[in-house]
Amino acid sequence: MEETSRIVRQRIRITGVVQGVGFRPYVYATALRHGLAGFVANDSAGVLIEVEGRETTVADFIHALGENPPPLSRIESTQVEEITPSGEAGFSIQHSHPIAGENTPVPPDIATCHDCLKELFDPADRRYRYPFINCTNCGPRFTIIQDLPYDRPQTTMAKFPMCAACAREYHDPLNRRFHAQPIACPDCGPKLFLQPSNLEGEIALLEAKRLLREGAIVAIKGIGGFHLACDATNNAAVMELRRRKGRVGKPFAVMAPSLESIHLYAEVNPEEARILTGRERPIVLLNRRKNSPDKLSALVAPGQIQLGFFLPYSPLHVLLLDETPLIMTSGNRSDEPIVRENEEALERLATLADAFLLHNRDIYMVCDDSVVRVLDAQELPIRRSRGYAPLPVQLPVSGPATLGVGGELKATFCLTRNQRAYLSQHIGDMENLETQQAYERTLEQMRRLFRIDPEVVVCDLHPGYLSSRWASEFADANRLPLIKVQHHHAHAAALMTEHSLPEDNQILAVAFDGTGLGTDGAIWGGEILQAGYRSFHRLGHLKYAPLPGGDSSIKKPYRIALSHLYAANLSWNEDLPCVQACSENERRILARQLSQNLNSPPTSSMGRLFDAAASLIGLRHEVSYEAQGAMELEALAAACCTTGAYEFAIEHQDGFIFDPAPIWREMIDDLRHNTSIPVIAAKFHRSVADLIVRSCQLARAQTGLNTIGLTGGVFQNVYLLKLTMAAFMKEDFTVLIHRTVPPNDGGLSLGQATAGICALNGSH
Ligand code: ZN
Ligand code: ZN
Ligand code: FE
Repeated sequence: MEETSRIVRQRIRITGVVQGVGFRPYVYATALRHGLAGFVANDSAGVLIEVEGRETTVADFIHALGENPPPLSRIESTQVEEITPSGEAGFSIQHSHPIAGENTPVPPDIATCHDCLKELFDPADRRYRYPFINCTNCGPRFTIIQDLPYDRPQTTMAKFPMCAACAREYHDPLNRRFHAQPIACPDCGPKLFLQPSNLEGEIALLEAKRLLREGAIVAIKGIGGFHLACDATNNAAVMELRRRKGRVGKPFAVMAPSLESIHLYAEVNPEEARILTGRERPIVLLNRRKNSPDKLSALVAPGQIQLGFFLPYSPLHVLLLDETPLIMTSGNRSDEPIVRENEEALERLATLADAFLLHNRDIYMVCDDSVVRVLDAQELPIRRSRGYAPLPVQLPVSGPATLGVGGELKATFCLTRNQRAYLSQHIGDMENLETQQAYERTLEQMRRLFRIDPEVVVCDLHPGYLSSRWASEFADANRLPLIKVQHHHAHAAALMTEHSLPEDNQILAVAFDGTGLGTDGAIWGGEILQAGYRSFHRLGHLKYAPLPGGDSSIKKPYRIALSHLYAANLSWNEDLPCVQACSENERRILARQLSQNLNSPPTSSMGRLFDAAASLIGLRHEVSYEAQGAMELEALAAACCTTGAYEFAIEHQDGFIFDPAPIWREMIDDLRHNTSIPVIAAKFHRSVADLIVRSCQLARAQTGLNTIGLTGGVFQNVYLLKLTMAAFMKEDFTVLIHRTVPPNDGGLSLGQATAGICALNGSH
């Protein structure tokens, strides 16, 4: 008895997402309940607690901490150490103090919570209709934090001194806004205004709504950047937005006022509803509702059976949306990064927007909206950004602090330190100076925020990528080793990392992708790899076909179709849609190019095979955005049911070679027998799924490996994923798909980082 009731003092260190999420008040309340003395503080490593009291009570307290942590927190580790009691009385929340050389995760931006929504619409509340209402459980985080520890002076809220009422809430540990750093009210917080009409507050909001109703395009400053908004049911407005943005066919995302409203236009199953209403609030791609009672403009997502919907995630959005859904597309000129500052918006979006709904809270970190598809009740990330970034991915390997610079399209980078990989938000296609500048800025910000000085740099094998060139300059300037990782190896490593596979594991990676430079100089993208983190071996691939004109032909799938027919020894018969799409003159030039092998690099790209198929059946001959043909092919196939399939020939040469020639022959046959286009599209998908399973069986027999990884941009195709996973079910394989990072090049930087770390570990 004497033993257990002795007075002890324990120092408890908790790491994880524990700052900016109400963790200190939670600790405080728990300590009060247990009648313990001591303190809790944030530092740059996480949360530090010291408690003093009877040994049994202290043990109870530590147990209780893990029981009901705040909803936004994520505990990674808890360390307890006994120290000498100091005789302190009472429990306090102490000031934050930084620790050199440590880093702690930062929470992502969180959608407005129910408590705040209730106040927002309560006429008696002092924050009634205040567009910047937030609390400890919701509001901006990542986009306003300039440095750690996360405290108001280190956020873009620093310039708003709290009024007495806000300060009272902020300092009251039992208030739900205790230490809510972005706390604000109409008296002391950010203000809304409209340009060019110079209106403020509620009147600015009402005028913006009126303009939108009348078909205007309004630039709206949000959480992580600007949106361009217009009425999604107004055809003329949507057409005008497309004209001004120079965006021909790429689908727009639509923000709807409520789940009920989305139901009018799209089918929403319970899992999709859960993700739509979740605190991350991503754009969710949903199947368009047939016979919808209400009509969106056909120009929102031409040719797609899926529509990207999301729900309001900031109080401003909530106030802005009435009954009409709005297009909310990234506020940028095509191919440029999203706009962040008021001045920048007024200048760069001047020709795009009729009016600007602005506010004076600065966005420090740009963060675009996230996009997901839903498969088997879980997210399949298409673009990992707001709401998810910058939560770290737990690394299954350890090594030096590493920077993976990503690829070219859908660029992200990845900074690692110890067991944490901080994957950046989506930055954009690294094809111009503006995007490269945005990339550099974001990298600087994240290096500072997480206190990471990379010791190793990893890039793609492709020397022409802006990111590769940047990496080599950066490595030179800082005298750091530069490691190059083959594109599809990086895709496989990313998948292995997010599934926490140990360092010595290997998988059979099916890397079906658009483009990536191979080790033989060809353009890969239809590969079966025996892959570990450190190295890979290519077991099989789609038979090479020439890509006449290289990457420039990607925009013209009919040229790829003709080239595939050429490679398969099939004639360019006039009755084929892809032949008709090509002028006689162009055909003559193309034929010479192919026969003399002029500027026609060989490619095994599966993405291009989908493009070729889309053109062959007359669906899409020219594309205005990446994977357009493949997406439309998927849309057709998913809407139809057939059990038929074509069959790839598998040749055994130096590995397995998948020859599509028989597929083209059968497809042409079907075309000539007037088989419906959706049926052909579905049969094409089934033949690819069959190919995956057959080749994995061969690869398993050769390697003894039983874990399959489906990675690369082609696996954004949910219809193909479903077919493939169903086929694998009967075969007793373990199948991994992407759940945390995108299967497309947005996930590449994570795989580069782990592959780089392991390459370095292996070389020692
Ligand atoms: Zn809230
Ligand atoms: Zn206030
Ligand atoms: Fe790729």
